[in-house]
Amino acid sequence: MQQAYFTEEHQLFRGGLRAFLEKEVKPHIDRWESTGQIDREIWHKFGEMGYFGLRSPEAYGGLDLDLFYTIILLEELQRVHSGGFAAAIWAHTYLAMTHLIVEGSDELKKEYLTKSISGEKIGCLCISEPFGGSDVGAMRTTAVVEGDDYVINGSKTFITNGVYSDYLIVVAKTDTEANSKAMSIFLIDRDAPGISATKLDKLGWRASDTGEIAFDNVRVPKSHLMGENGSGFYYVMQHFALERLIMGVNAHARAEYALEYTLQYMSERSAFGKTIDKFQALRHRIAEHATEVEMIKCFNYTVAENLEKGNYVVKEACMSRLKSTKVADDVIYDCLQFLGGYGYMEGYPLARLFRDSRLGPIGGGTSEILKEIISKIVIDKKIYKAKI
Ligand SMILES: Cc1cc2nc3c(=O)[nH]c(=O)nc-3n(C[C@H](O)[C@H](O)[C@H](O)COP(=O)(O)OP(=O)(O)OC[C@H]3O[C@@H](n4cnc5c(N)ncnc54)[C@H](O)[C@@H]3O)c2cc1C
Repeated sequence: MQQAYFTEEHQLFRGGLRAFLEKEVKPHIDRWESTGQIDREIWHKFGEMGYFGLRSPEAYGGLDLDLFYTIILLEELQRVHSGGFAAAIWAHTYLAMTHLIVEGSDELKKEYLTKSISGEKIGCLCISEPFGGSDVGAMRTTAVVEGDDYVINGSKTFITNGVYSDYLIVVAKTDTEANSKAMSIFLIDRDAPGISATKLDKLGWRASDTGEIAFDNVRVPKSHLMGENGSGFYYVMQHFALERLIMGVNAHARAEYALEYTLQYMSERSAFGKTIDKFQALRHRIAEHATEVEMIKCFNYTVAENLEKGNYVVKEACMSRLKSTKVADDVIYDCLQFLGGYGYMEGYPLARLFRDSRLGPIGGGTSEILKEIISKIVIDKKIYKAKI
């Protein structure tokens, strides 16, 4: 299937990226997992290699490459064996920077996008709040005009790169009337007075910093409003398709990596006089998992191809994230089982994979919310096209 989507150039890129990650990232992963902080130096190295600019415009230092280079980046990141490291990288590149590319002014892009591509500045995207993440429209953070500034008050939680990033893309209500969905997006520099962030302890994704952020009368110049005032909700919804596809791709790559490792282990581990990959009870489960992984992978590539063509893929992106994360969880659950007691040990990759994979059905809209969206599209024929 790879041949259908990946050219020789793509494959060369994959080879170079894999070698880079092997040399520059993998040796440090266990340390970053235990400290919960990724060395700044690696961000600069990613920048030097151009990996943050794969989908960014050339005018700001990007490479403006097709989406399949991004797919390769995401797939290879899953193989460094840290969902947290991968998340820190893709949250910066595809959550924060996507808003900057699409809604940022030329002035903001010159200052923040160029430095995001070079790895000098790290971004995060702040939507979820302590009072609720699923119901985006009910957010309580406000942005009120005062002179030449907006004044932001409120809080965000579970934000990837929420503590160590240099700028924050923040969604806030600009019409504070109850029930209003009029929200807008702002770029806020970390140095703005009134921002405080607390690092949260969590089950998995341990190398990434997940933060709770408070905004106490934070003044943001009007020039840091991104896009149109009041259109924030639509911008968020518009970019959810890419975010959900990314989470789907991460899941198929994670499952594939788990299977690959487990098959190697099974070919070396013996019981009852033969290697355990000869037991039919296990072989059939592997066959089912391999089939499902191949199917979600093909589906995800098709969604990517359609997204790249500018087609309407809201339903398919939700399906990608919904099904792929379920398959990944099922595959990883069984792979851990096939390692027996070693599956439960930190010295083997399945324990971390198991923890990291659990975030799949929660992030980027929970699986319950995705089923709500899919059922509204399939049953009620609702169309989620952005109104911008
Ligand atoms: C490690 C991590 C990293 C994250 N990174 C980011 C980030 O970078 N930026 C960001 O903005 N957010 C981030 N999030 C937040 C994530 O998007 C939210 O956790 C998620 O959207 C769910 O919101 P919630 O946690 O408030 O759950 P709630 O909204 O409180 O939901 C609780 C439960 O109720 C269910 N539920 C809610 N509404 C319905 C409904 N209508 N029908 C059926 N069931 C429903 C949910 O599915 C869930 O099971 C991150 C979360 C984690 C854990």
